[in-house]
Amino acid sequence: MTTEILSLRTSILERIAACAKRSGRNAQDICLTAVSKQQPDERIAAVLASGQNVFGENRVQEAQARWEERFSDARKNIQLRLIGPLQTNKAVTACELFDVIETLDREKLARALVKAMDKTGRRPQIFVQVNTGEEPQKSGIIPGEFDAFIVTLRKVYDLHPAGLMCIPPAGTLISGDAPGPHFALLAKLAKRNGIKNLSMGMSADFETAIEFGATHIRVGSALFGARE
Ligand SMILES: *Cc1c(COP(=O)(O)O)cnc(C)c1O
Repeated sequence: MTTEILSLRTSILERIAACAKRSGRNAQDICLTAVSKQQPDERIAAVLASGQNVFGENRVQEAQARWEERFSDARKNIQLRLIGPLQTNKAVTACELFDVIETLDREKLARALVKAMDKTGRRPQIFVQVNTGEEPQKSGIIPGEFDAFIVTLRKVYDLHPAGLMCIPPAGTLISGDAPGPHFALLAKLAKRNGIKNLSMGMSADFETAIEFGATHIRVGSALFGARE
C-alpha cells in the first residue's frame, strides 16, 4: 500500500511539474490537495507517510472524526481544507477544524463565519465557490451575482477571499462540455476582482486546470485509489 501510494503521488507531482512547464508556470505555485474523503485509514496513513501535508475534506463531521480523533497526531503538521458545502450551524466547528474554507457561497454563511471567527478566535482563509455551470443542484454563487457578492463580503463583513473554487459539471470530459471554459471563467472572475488563488481541477482534469491557472488542485481517486 505505502509503496503503491508513494509512486502514485510521485507520478502526480511529475505530471504537475510537466504541465506547469508546458504552461510557462512554476510548479511551486501549484499546491496538491489530497482529497481524503471516504478513504480508509490505511490509505490515509500511506499518503501521510509519502510526505503529503495538505488534505481536503468535504464533510465537517467526517473530517472531525478523521483528523481530530484517528489522526490527531498528524493534524498539527497538516493543512486541512474544507471543499464541501458548509451549513451555518457547523460554522464554529469548521472554523476550529479547518485552515481554509473553500466553499463560501452566500451571505448567510458569511455572517455565520464572521460570528464563528469572533467566537473561536480563529480566522481560516476563505475561498468563494462559484457555480460556473449554473447547475441547480450544485452549491456556489452564480457568475452573474459574483462581483456584487465580493463587494458585500469586503465592505459589509470585512471578509477578503484569498481564492475562488469551482467544480465544473460532472462528466464534462465525456459530454463534450469541456472543463476548460469553466476554469477560464473562474480565472477571469478572480482576476477582475484582484483575487490570487484558484482551486480547480480534480483527478480527471487537473492538467487542464493548471493550464488555466489553477493554484490548488484537488485530487482524490488518482492519489488514493477509488473511494469506498
Ligand atoms: C471528491 C472531490 C474531489 C476529488 O475528486 P477526484 O475525482 O476523486 O479527484 C475534488 N473536489 C471536490 C469538491 C470533491 O468533492
